[in-house]
Amino acid sequence: MTARIVAGIDLGGTAVNYTFLDERGQFLIDGLCEHPARSVEGPDICLAQIADGLALAAAHANVRMADVVAIGLDTPGPASATGVLSRRGSTNFVHPQWAGYDIRAGLERKIGLPVSYLNDGNAAALWGHVSIFGSENAATSVSAIIGTGLGGGVITAGKAIVGRNGFGGELGHVLIPYGLIRGIDGLVPTCNCGRIGDLESLCSLTAIRQSLLPYFLRREPGHELAKHDVGQAAKLVRGLAEQSDPLCREIFRVQAHALGLFFDEMINVFDPDALIVGGGAVETGAEFRRWFIDEIRAGMPLQREEQASIQLHVIPNGDTAGARGAALDAVKLVR
Ligand SMILES: [Zn+2]
Repeated sequence: MTARIVAGIDLGGTAVNYTFLDERGQFLIDGLCEHPARSVEGPDICLAQIADGLALAAAHANVRMADVVAIGLDTPGPASATGVLSRRGSTNFVHPQWAGYDIRAGLERKIGLPVSYLNDGNAAALWGHVSIFGSENAATSVSAIIGTGLGGGVITAGKAIVGRNGFGGELGHVLIPYGLIRGIDGLVPTCNCGRIGDLESLCSLTAIRQSLLPYFLRREPGHELAKHDVGQAAKLVRGLAEQSDPLCREIFRVQAHALGLFFDEMINVFDPDALIVGGGAVETGAEFRRWFIDEIRAGMPLQREEQASIQLHVIPNGDTAGARGAALDAVKLVR
């Protein structure tokens, strides 16, 4: 008997993560199934590495490669809606041969199966959406994924809005009225994209390193994090916030309130069925996660009753979200 299985491949900065989805919509790998990424060595080596890792992952999941009928791929952007990487390069694809490279078509040639493409934020958003609503639905959701940057996606009727240039769901660069957040007088949150006061400039690991931590340490120079290099210190903020360190809690409160202002904008644009949060900021203990979600809501301006009832969710199985979303997207290739 032959099965029809789709694979999901999440190409990250240092690792490739794999999953498989069967015809009943069940994922065949529970946790992470990783292989080193080697993307810094350029397309030829990276794609060979992805193919090798896929065979290993299939063996691990007891899947016959002959039963795999399509592949969903996701990568960090910037890339077009069809998987052509930016000509200007990016942090994750520094090798010169990546500039303008069609990674979706490249993988299709390498493996000989149809491949679909999403950026990593849209893929994670699709998984978050399907985990709540299933794949057959007319619901709309907005997901914000808080990591090194701020990614995410808008999903409606089971599909990501990728947009004309692939920039659909680039939620991190949406400007927010950050002057409404208390306790950050004089802060000028600048994003790597050049904007001042977009969501990523206030709600990401990069925001902690570049803006929030230096701002709060200037007020409290004796804090233990002042002894570290700022890049190292930024990575310690979440752990200390979980332990109720006041300065670090304050940094996460500002991030939550920024997200609250952003979600308020999205509520007024989409009137969504769900708002979803994912990424490192919520991959924490349950108590901190609850506090953070409550603070997001506290950061929203006053809402009409029907808006206040919109559910705030956390993406489950967060570290596998990209691979799962990519696999869900590839199902369209075999229908
Ligand atoms: Zn930006």
